[in-house]
Amino acid sequence: MDQGAKKRLLDLTPLEISDLVLDMGEKPYRAEQLLAGLFRRGARTFADFTDLAKNYRERLSQIAEIGPRLTLIESAQSQDGAQKLLWRAPDGLAFESVLIPEKGHYTLCLSTQVGCALGCRFCRTGDLGLSRDLSQGEILAQVLEAKKFVPQDQKLTNIVFMGMGEPLLNLKALLNALFILNSPKYLAFAGSKISLSTVGIPKGLTALAESGHKIGLTVSLGAAQDALRDELMPINRRFPLSELKKALLAYPLKSGQRFTIAYVLLKGVNDSPTDALALSRFLADLKTKINLIPFNPWPNAPFERPDEATIQKFWRVLYDKNHTVMVRWSKGGAVAGACGQLAGGNLGLAKNRPKELDLA
Ligand code: SF4
Repeated sequence: MDQGAKKRLLDLTPLEISDLVLDMGEKPYRAEQLLAGLFRRGARTFADFTDLAKNYRERLSQIAEIGPRLTLIESAQSQDGAQKLLWRAPDGLAFESVLIPEKGHYTLCLSTQVGCALGCRFCRTGDLGLSRDLSQGEILAQVLEAKKFVPQDQKLTNIVFMGMGEPLLNLKALLNALFILNSPKYLAFAGSKISLSTVGIPKGLTALAESGHKIGLTVSLGAAQDALRDELMPINRRFPLSELKKALLAYPLKSGQRFTIAYVLLKGVNDSPTDALALSRFLADLKTKINLIPFNPWPNAPFERPDEATIQKFWRVLYDKNHTVMVRWSKGGAVAGACGQLAGGNLGLAKNRPKELDLA
């Protein structure tokens, strides 16, 4: 049989896996065994499915493979313990995840695209342009592979979609992966332990809300005035702040839930008390907590990090306006794996071909 025609199991939905198994003339419970092996036990070869009859495994291996497979091409650890994992996809493109140790558990930061088309100027990934979306299976494989790097006495409990790419521009793969991540039958990450970071694509926010996944949502603002946000985050020219606000007001937060607002502080650009007041006004009728992220510079970056006194002043303005606000010094900076800096790290990925966007 032509190897290329084999189905990659991680790219299929549970329903599609079920259909595949039924088409082989097997009983429905065989599909559940297959799914449990893939996601609960992390089986990586057909030989690992010891609860399946040999004949069934052999027939399966003729039509399907346990993939897509990611090859680890580089791993680097920063002093704070965050580990950047650089993967090669089956088509040779490289992308990254970051495994972050926290108190008593681990968090994995996932990529959803190879590169990103949105070109936020404070983000290193934005410099690369977009090569392509990651598939559902490539998103899930980051989790399955990264689990091997978690010490045996620890657990990977938290997932953040904050790596390369804008998750809400790869919606189908994202929502399918979320279903498997979130389902108690499969990868079983609680919704409260999954969060997603977005620039705020209104159509994507609506689709996420309709999917019913109750996950955390971080919205990257960069500026709360259109002229400045247009400059820093070109997506704002397509969806200005008024549209973003409308989408956020319509988003069905769980009781007690708040949006996290990520605001990267750039020296002399968006770090004045006037900028803080504009941010406060924009957030006035939204339930939020604000993370101020002092810019993490990279070689030849176009911005600098503000000094401590400026950061403190900005924080104070928001605090005095009764916002919940904290300064985040993101982990992984030393390996260029902090938020917005996943760009091929030390290997330096080649510039990718930009792709047309369909944001309608
Ligand atoms: S911040 Fe996010 S959306 Fe903006 S360029 Fe970077 S990866 Fe893309």
